[in-house]
Amino acid sequence: MPSVRQSKAVRSLPISVRALGREAGLPGQVPVRELLRRTGMFTKPVHIKVLRYTWGTVAPDARNHPIWPDAALNEILHAPNGWSLGDFWSDATLRLFELRFSVEPWRVLVNVSHKDARDDRGGVVDKCRHQAEQDGVSFEGVDRIVAMVHPPPVNAGAVGGNAVLDQGAFGLSFFQHELGHVLGFEHAFGPCGDYVYQDDYSVMGFSAVQTRAIAVPAAFTGVQVLEAATFWNSDRALSPAALYRYAGDFAASSSVIRVDLATRPRVRLAAFGQAGLHDPVLAVASTAQGEIMAEYRARFGQDGGVQPAVVVHSLRRRPVLRWHGEQDPVWYEGHMGVSSPVPSPGPSVSVDTVFKAELVSVTPDLRYVEVVLS
Ligand SMILES: [Zn+2]
Repeated sequence: MPSVRQSKAVRSLPISVRALGREAGLPGQVPVRELLRRTGMFTKPVHIKVLRYTWGTVAPDARNHPIWPDAALNEILHAPNGWSLGDFWSDATLRLFELRFSVEPWRVLVNVSHKDARDDRGGVVDKCRHQAEQDGVSFEGVDRIVAMVHPPPVNAGAVGGNAVLDQGAFGLSFFQHELGHVLGFEHAFGPCGDYVYQDDYSVMGFSAVQTRAIAVPAAFTGVQVLEAATFWNSDRALSPAALYRYAGDFAASSSVIRVDLATRPRVRLAAFGQAGLHDPVLAVASTAQGEIMAEYRARFGQDGGVQPAVVVHSLRRRPVLRWHGEQDPVWYEGHMGVSSPVPSPGPSVSVDTVFKAELVSVTPDLRYVEVVLS
């Protein structure tokens, strides 16, 4: 499928929808919306160089085990299996972002001691990059670096737009969350349980909540996974509220419905997991103190493991906590469960006395809800 990207030049050209449709293999009359959906227009590719290195000298307490075959790692990175990092983040951003991995062969971090280097996450990225330059690796066109080191343990996670990973992760959820940081998404905040970034409806909240089980792919048959008991679970999607906060293309799209609470608007929302860009997925109300947003989440796509709910988040309403230096983070404010048919009286969810969402209808297939906001 040819990919048509929107650039400033394209935006100002007289383009023919029919001609673009033909190029995309869609003959005849083509709705613009279908063309956008089929051609991946608006997609921003993010080029990630995966540097794979074994330690120069391995620590005595290393968790030695075989390196995953390339086919197994590829399954996690970008295989079209519905849950790989590529598929997850494409779906979770309504195809606004596309992870493109280029994976280097395994090499050795010359003169680097596992024991001395493993706690300093940024240092591990620097050491891998330095060694890669010695090894003749080109970084032309590379946006981000993932340093995959072996054997575990290492202080794995995101750092400065890059990330350190290893084969000791507790699960796919961990990789999905850390790649979210690599794409620029910060932690979602919430009701301050054990973790200040608690949002059960965002992969950028604390990991491994409302996950869905993944069948072990064939490429991992006979391959050792250290945390096999917890590894094969895929996390809930990003919240549309976070997409609004961090992705300008989404915030400017018709997926975002701006509402005036004084008019008690009745708003139709699509379940995010089955929505495309331009489907209505987020209602945004400006208040005297920040913005309050409503979205609908149900068991579709990357949200296959979530309890169906209308979820409310806020921006710039709560005091800023400095957990990892987040700027104006998304705050989870609450949710109301959704089931069909809607009970009477219907459920509602409120933020103090300034915002209330009431559920008025839900389609039997749970794909859409209608809420009244006030
Ligand atoms: Zn994090």
